[in-house]
Amino acid sequence: MMDIEENVHKIKEEIAAAARAAGRDPAEILLVAASKMNDAGRVQRAIRAGVPVCGENRVQEMLEKQRQNAYEGAALHFIGHLQKNKVRQVVGLAALIHSADSVELLREIDRCARNRQCVQDVLLEINIGRESSKSGFLPEMLPGALEEAAKLGAVRVRGLMAIPPVSRGVDGNRPFFSEMDKLFVDNAGKKYDNIHMDFLSMGMSRDFQTAIACGANIVRIGTAIFGERIYS
Ligand SMILES: *Cc1c(COP(=O)(O)O)cnc(C)c1O
Repeated sequence: MMDIEENVHKIKEEIAAAARAAGRDPAEILLVAASKMNDAGRVQRAIRAGVPVCGENRVQEMLEKQRQNAYEGAALHFIGHLQKNKVRQVVGLAALIHSADSVELLREIDRCARNRQCVQDVLLEINIGRESSKSGFLPEMLPGALEEAAKLGAVRVRGLMAIPPVSRGVDGNRPFFSEMDKLFVDNAGKKYDNIHMDFLSMGMSRDFQTAIACGANIVRIGTAIFGERIYS
């Protein structure tokens, strides 16, 4: 049986345990519930059980659920691939866009944020597994991407995000997580006004403990909260 409330409590305990095991303060790890394909009622159950942030993947689904007040009581992040023609609908609504994956997209986010007279927080997505099926900056592209982002007054880079290859078990992606942490630390000292390396978003249901051991301070959890997604 699926019990969203019980799952939220269990996952929070597991996150805290992983943080303590890594000698870190559990309070510094932010849980984002990846709520795609779960309706407003289920999202609300997770929020009432203590989920502080929801992360959505698809703009259309997010807007529909937003209209149903699905995210009331939590912050909203956008974590999926973002097409340029949909940026306008996400900027100002999502507190953080995890998936800024090209300079062109950053420029479009900047343009829309200027129009809305806001500053949009983003993470730069890194294609850490160098998979042709995935978007994101290759690790060696990061310094150039930061330099370009620094020119955009309505974009604030808050850190990095990665979706490594599908892992076999909790430890399969450890090398990728370590490589991400190194990139995160190595680029934290760059002195641009609008670039702050605050957040490292990595780790999902299968491997969040390892991600936390490697330095993640945002984990994105779907299945372990809501159960298996049924793709039809
Ligand atoms: C769905 C999704 C997750 C959560 O994946 P689970 O394995 O179900 O925990 C995390 N990040 C992104 C970008 C996702 O799309």
